[in-house]
Amino acid sequence: MIEVLLAGGCGFIGSHLADRLCRRNDVSRIVVVDNLWTGRIENLSAIDDIRVEFVRADVEHFKSDTQFDEIYHLASPASPPWYMAQPLRTISANVLGAMNLLGMLKPGGVICYTSTSEVYGDPLVNPQPESYRGSVDCTGPRSSYDESKRCVEAMLFGASNVHGTRVKVARLFNVYGPRTRPDDGRAVSNFITQALRGEPLTVYGDGSQSRSWGHIDDIVDGLERYFWSDGTDYSGPLNIGNDREISVLEVAQFINASFPGSPIVFLPPVPQDPTNRRPDLTLCNQVLPGWKCQIPYEEGVLRSVDWFRREMRL
Ligand code: UDP
Repeated sequence: MIEVLLAGGCGFIGSHLADRLCRRNDVSRIVVVDNLWTGRIENLSAIDDIRVEFVRADVEHFKSDTQFDEIYHLASPASPPWYMAQPLRTISANVLGAMNLLGMLKPGGVICYTSTSEVYGDPLVNPQPESYRGSVDCTGPRSSYDESKRCVEAMLFGASNVHGTRVKVARLFNVYGPRTRPDDGRAVSNFITQALRGEPLTVYGDGSQSRSWGHIDDIVDGLERYFWSDGTDYSGPLNIGNDREISVLEVAQFINASFPGSPIVFLPPVPQDPTNRRPDLTLCNQVLPGWKCQIPYEEGVLRSVDWFRREMRL
């Protein structure tokens, strides 16, 4: 039976992955490590499974005598205001965290990492294939996140190429949906929480910058297939995301149409805000045939509104 370590399992994406791991019957133990910096223990409240053990610890300091068959590293903030506020901690969680986790991997086991489309920086090609090397400023405001994700990729591909370690690296594009913290600070959750409070929707810059938002249920379907259920050994990097690109203003306008009491206000642009982001899914279609985001953002946003309404008791 398989022993699993899930770092960051109380986070937005990590907790959804925890739910999926609990559906497996080949797993005997799931150790969830989280320091509850951006994660929340309530995110595990839907789980009633004696195989799950929660340990409150920093991923880089966690110790265990177990050598795990499968390790998932999702222990990182992902929202710009959160990682920008604590750049050293962000780098530590990703880089030192990955180093620590590698030491707990059973020989022949697999370590899976959620990297990010941020490795493409402010991309000069659109859509971005995995082969695109990116346009990242290592001195810029986003660098603690971008560069630490890149460094962990370097670490894992180095371990794979030189030592034969089994790795899987997914590059996630923007994700939204239930279990995003109401104070997370990213666009979709900000607009929804602002609308529910009757506050203006804050668009940074003119809103022409675009992203490709994937609903969490679709993204976790893709992760589940890639990480364990499809039986692929492809080490990555693999883009996983929605390839429908939408401007920030369009998202705000869609939410404003349902909440006319919340007008759109334009705030100063964020320095080095990427102008565009869209995954090239050619490789993904080969590795995970038939997988794609199914939930249109119009439906996903409305579903998320219901969740945030309950979460915020509004
Ligand atoms: N954004 C915005 N208003 C907000 C939050 C974000 O206009 O209240 C913009 C942000 O500047 C960026 C886009 O929305 O252009 C996506 O930002 P988010 O923080 O969601 O993700 P990321 O920048 O990491 O892709």
